[in-house]
Amino acid sequence: MKNFAYSRAETVEGAVGLIARNANAKFLGGGTNLVDLMRENIEQPDSVIDVTHLSGDGVHGIDELPDGGLHIRASVRNSAVANNALVRERYPVLSQAILFGASGQVRNMATTGGNLMQRTRCHYFYDGTARCNKRMPGSGCDAIGGFNRMHAILGASDSCIATHPSDMCVALAALDATVRVEGPGGERTIPFADFHRLPGDTPQVETSLRSDELITAIHLPPLAFAKNSRYRKIRDRASYAFALVSVAVALDIDAGTIAGVRLALGGVAHKPWRAYQAENTMLGAKANRETFERAADAELSAARGYGDNNFKIELAKRTIVGVLTEMAEAGGVR
Ligand code: SF4
Repeated sequence: MKNFAYSRAETVEGAVGLIARNANAKFLGGGTNLVDLMRENIEQPDSVIDVTHLSGDGVHGIDELPDGGLHIRASVRNSAVANNALVRERYPVLSQAILFGASGQVRNMATTGGNLMQRTRCHYFYDGTARCNKRMPGSGCDAIGGFNRMHAILGASDSCIATHPSDMCVALAALDATVRVEGPGGERTIPFADFHRLPGDTPQVETSLRSDELITAIHLPPLAFAKNSRYRKIRDRASYAFALVSVAVALDIDAGTIAGVRLALGGVAHKPWRAYQAENTMLGAKANRETFERAADAELSAARGYGDNNFKIELAKRTIVGVLTEMAEAGGVR
């Protein structure tokens, strides 16, 4: 371990391979925006550890698994994942999602593990003068009743309405990825849907990663129809902006009927939102606009706006229907 003095190149947003720990030697977690949070005095770790070179060299580190899936080491840079030939061929939704995120410079620095651990960009979380249950449990939430245009419409609580900022994680949720972690108790695998948490009354607990564990890899299971997958991101400007709503979808159409579908939403919840209700509505149904509208309505039936973000409910529905209709018109993968 060393106390970490970060260089200029590492202080851009996207500085990666860093984990922080407090005086009790408990890891606070890393994450793409850890350095930003240190600058703003939101995080004040005693030590920061550079783990960039613990596994792989950050460029390679993507290997085929015997079952046809992929093993992606935690230290692999986002740009390397997005440009990997196997990822582009078998899981284009993942490549597209990464390329829709941040900037080329950030993607060249950010790692797979760091992307998973990045924290919400809720502006009240970053503002030390605001009430924020995530930053200071029990203090309140100034986003509720405040400026909440970017905030959650699904799975939020009276404690926190923040959204998860990642694009990559939305694709990983749709693909049923698993997260490999390691700690003193050995290795374990966490289903992606269980890795990030909804806020409930403990919004400061954001993942199921234990305080003595590190992420070592992501596994993508084989999914033949994932080669027919797509990522759509709706945002305020064309570059370097977080999603208002995003959709990751993989679709399998057999003779006009939906034989397989994976759907996840970003920008709408405290975690990447797997749209199980929409998937169940679509499976076995005709691949047409009417089915897609029923699916979107089903998924968003429990959505709630908080004022400024009310528009996201309709926007999410339209984005789901738009992407699925385009894919259906383009045909399935059989
Ligand atoms: Fe804090 Fe969550 Fe409220 Fe934002 S939405 S101020 S992160 S508690």
